[in-house]
Amino acid sequence: RTVYVNGAYVPEDQAKVSVFDRGFLFADGVYEVTSVLDGKLIDFGGHCKRLRRSLGELEMRLDLSDEDLLAIHRELVARNDIDEGMIYLQVTRGAADRDFVFPPEDTPPTVVLFTQKKPLIESALAARGQKVITIEDKRWSRCDIKTVQLLYPSLAKMEAKAKGADDAWLVRDGFVTEGSSNNAYIVTSDGTIVTRDISSAILSGITRQAVLECARDLQMKIEERPFSVEEAENAVEAFSTSASGFVVPAVEIDGKPIGDGKPGPVATRLRSVYIEKMRQAAI
Ligand code: PLP
Repeated sequence: RTVYVNGAYVPEDQAKVSVFDRGFLFADGVYEVTSVLDGKLIDFGGHCKRLRRSLGELEMRLDLSDEDLLAIHRELVARNDIDEGMIYLQVTRGAADRDFVFPPEDTPPTVVLFTQKKPLIESALAARGQKVITIEDKRWSRCDIKTVQLLYPSLAKMEAKAKGADDAWLVRDGFVTEGSSNNAYIVTSDGTIVTRDISSAILSGITRQAVLECARDLQMKIEERPFSVEEAENAVEAFSTSASGFVVPAVEIDGKPIGDGKPGPVATRLRSVYIEKMRQAAI
């Protein structure tokens, strides 16, 4: 695999970052993940916009324009022959002598991009539907920033796997915030889609935004508000959204079936409408 590191395209086994990189020492970095379909980028503009916001919230610099970033993404797609998969963009505050205080402003950020080949359309998980467990959301209170601080979501995912489930939905004060790496939704008996409103408790998903737009176009009812675990258990269907999963139905929560325990019509419809729309608009 060819990766991008600070201006150079190198084979992955020759890629280097400093042991003093603040991403490594302090999780002082942000990232983005963009999916690739037919060798083209899905919603690249949305991911750039969120990256700028994450960088801004942490007062982190990046000396590359959106056009520069697009060119790097495209170069990696070409060099790694990616037809379907993901591109990760990681930016840290750079390398400096270890200190909680930020390094001088002229410290160059570390910029790494790498690709992952992955079948996205033909997803076994989307076809069978995911099983989720609920666990307490013990993350910090700035979940709106896409930082590389992913230890708690990783632990949550491991707990889900240990219980024979696919993912964990995180719960704060009795209400679901989001999945370990996706936004969470339920559909109530009157057909309303309910998903947590945007705040610092969740990451504002780029897929969430696009899927809600699809739902509006289809005249579906939407409520952006917190929903409880009990509401999720009594929902007629549920699903999650993310750049890497698109729309993935959820069929079981804490060992109990959601609705009839099969992928529901709302999630299935939104998945195909979203994929079709984004494929058309891919760049
Ligand atoms: N929420 C969290 C915590 C995530 O990590 C992610 C994606 O990685 C999402 C939501 C979904 O965001 P997006 O649709 O932009 O991939």
